[in-house]
Amino acid sequence: MYSLVILNGTMIKKSQQKKRTSPCNYKERFFVLDTEELKYSECRPGKKSILKGCIKLCSIKCVETVFSDLPIPCTFKYPFQVFHDNHFLYIFAPDNNCRLRWVQAIKEETKNNKLVEKYHPQFWMDGKWRCCQQSNKLAKGCHVYDPLGYASKKPLPGIPDAEVGLHDALQKMVIALQNYTPFRDKELALQKDKEYTLMDSSNPEWWNVRDEKGNTGLVPSTHVTEKSGKNFERFEWYNKNITRGEAEDILFKEAKEGAFMVRNSRQTGVYTVSVFTKAPGSNGEKNPCVKHYQIRQTETGEPTFYLAEKYLFQTIPELIYYHQHNAAVCVCVYMCYLAGLITRLRHPVTQAGGFSQETAGPSQDEWEVDPEDLDFGLQLGSGQFGLVLQGRWREKKVALKMIKEECMSNEEFKEEARIMMRLYHSKLVQLYGVCTQRSPMCLVLEFMENGCLSDYLRTKKGTLSQDAMLEMCLDVSEGMAYLEMSNFIHRDLAARNCLVSKNNVVKLSDFGMTRYVLDDQYTSSLCSKFPVKWSAPEVIKYCKFSSKSDVWSFGVLMWEVYTEGRLPYENRSNTEVVESLNAGMRLLKPKLAPEAVYLLMEWCWKEKPVDRPSFALLLHELSSLSSYL
Ligand code: ADP
Repeated sequence: MYSLVILNGTMIKKSQQKKRTSPCNYKERFFVLDTEELKYSECRPGKKSILKGCIKLCSIKCVETVFSDLPIPCTFKYPFQVFHDNHFLYIFAPDNNCRLRWVQAIKEETKNNKLVEKYHPQFWMDGKWRCCQQSNKLAKGCHVYDPLGYASKKPLPGIPDAEVGLHDALQKMVIALQNYTPFRDKELALQKDKEYTLMDSSNPEWWNVRDEKGNTGLVPSTHVTEKSGKNFERFEWYNKNITRGEAEDILFKEAKEGAFMVRNSRQTGVYTVSVFTKAPGSNGEKNPCVKHYQIRQTETGEPTFYLAEKYLFQTIPELIYYHQHNAAVCVCVYMCYLAGLITRLRHPVTQAGGFSQETAGPSQDEWEVDPEDLDFGLQLGSGQFGLVLQGRWREKKVALKMIKEECMSNEEFKEEARIMMRLYHSKLVQLYGVCTQRSPMCLVLEFMENGCLSDYLRTKKGTLSQDAMLEMCLDVSEGMAYLEMSNFIHRDLAARNCLVSKNNVVKLSDFGMTRYVLDDQYTSSLCSKFPVKWSAPEVIKYCKFSSKSDVWSFGVLMWEVYTEGRLPYENRSNTEVVESLNAGMRLLKPKLAPEAVYLLMEWCWKEKPVDRPSFALLLHELSSLSSYL
């Protein structure tokens, strides 16, 4: 009979321990899913692979991700389970997308089987189920099984055929500076910080690379950097032969906060970052000025390059990328000043002067709103940037967020608005446009009848059902999963920054805005307005923002929902909060939160960012809870 291959790739499998005495081990296997079977084999370099196992698809009763609150003891960290013929096979995928792709594909192939009604969301371990503590391995599951599942609602892109090959030691390795989602067939997805083998760099813009699973494809050359080598010409920030004086002239002429370039120092093999700033320096020097920072190298070990102490990178492009996307000055809560840059590296400047070409966004006309089309109404509230008014635009009820000039720089506001206009999702407060032709400038936003989530929770206190609370968390996680997928970091996720619609849908607002706040009371972790109680430890210590630091804040937001709008760590100062977090303490379980929901909160508050779940996974877990609770 004919069988068609649906998916293949390398993953890790845990021994099935069919007999009580069989050992527990983790082995790398090459998996193939076809229309009849799920097979896995051992690959031996240069030799024929050996088939190690084969599961008939008709014998599968459940396939689902596994939720684990314990560290995963093998290199691939994304487990899923296949329950077949009374056996449990645990498979570990290298990343969440890969896991969802497999789960989705197997679910699709087995949806007409005789399936379980309930399954176990956690591991069978040490003679019992971690989820429900039952000690019979074949005991009925404790969680409703969804044969279609979240994954099937949101189709993921297919993967190119995997050609498995061995890494050639002579070939150059490159590291991804940022994620990249392919748009055309010939392209390959990149995952930030992962290594790829460079196959061909003859085209200056598109390089051919191979990932660890053997998939090859084209990627933009500016999204990767060679692990060794100093070939920076393709980066817009690199100006090879420019002296200190010339750099100052060019940057002064631009006179934009954070305009910067990287140039060769007089000392051979050393590089300097020159950056323009209007910010006052620590030793009272005159402003504006151009500051020069030598990129330093540690004597030994890897990673080696750094500008700010504690922030080490394997390569210079990684270091620049980091400082382009993270807050400038890092001040830790205990008053010790960590050597840092005076400003974020905002605008790369090219040798001939002028900013480098940004990727084309919507044209001016697409997002500029004519002030004549706007009607200004009553005040809805006031925030960090100024007043928020009710208004009307093209027959639509809208909210108009006025931006006080001293709160945000004009240029940066426009840049931000352009980015926000590109993001579109039903769980994000939609930005319709901006009006920059009058002062103060304003954002034209979707109108949210029920105001901000924190106030909403407090007014609804005592009336919210379990379903309603879970739905709120689901809404936020859906919006955040979209931002995560778009490589966009929120940076200030909290109930006060979510808004509630007429139909009680919760949507994200103010995403990414903190980067443009000029008030350093807000941006420095030492200062009173910094949202320490929502911030991950790495943000408080090093201002290191990431989707995983957003995940931490999401845990706090869930806590706000289940306490019906209480302030986290009430009556405790920021310093006390940091001390108790360092001592391993966390917010306590809100009375209204079911155990499974609190487990998710705790997962968000893992010390190490890598141990926290992604938003895609949180969304999945919350969706399965919603059918269970
Ligand atoms: P800021 O970001 O400047 O701190 P906020 O976004 O918190 O300001 O807005 C202040 C208040 O204005 C909110 O608490 C809310 O009541 C109201 N508001 C803001 N945006 C909207 C909107 N899109 N629809 C309805 N009300 C809004």
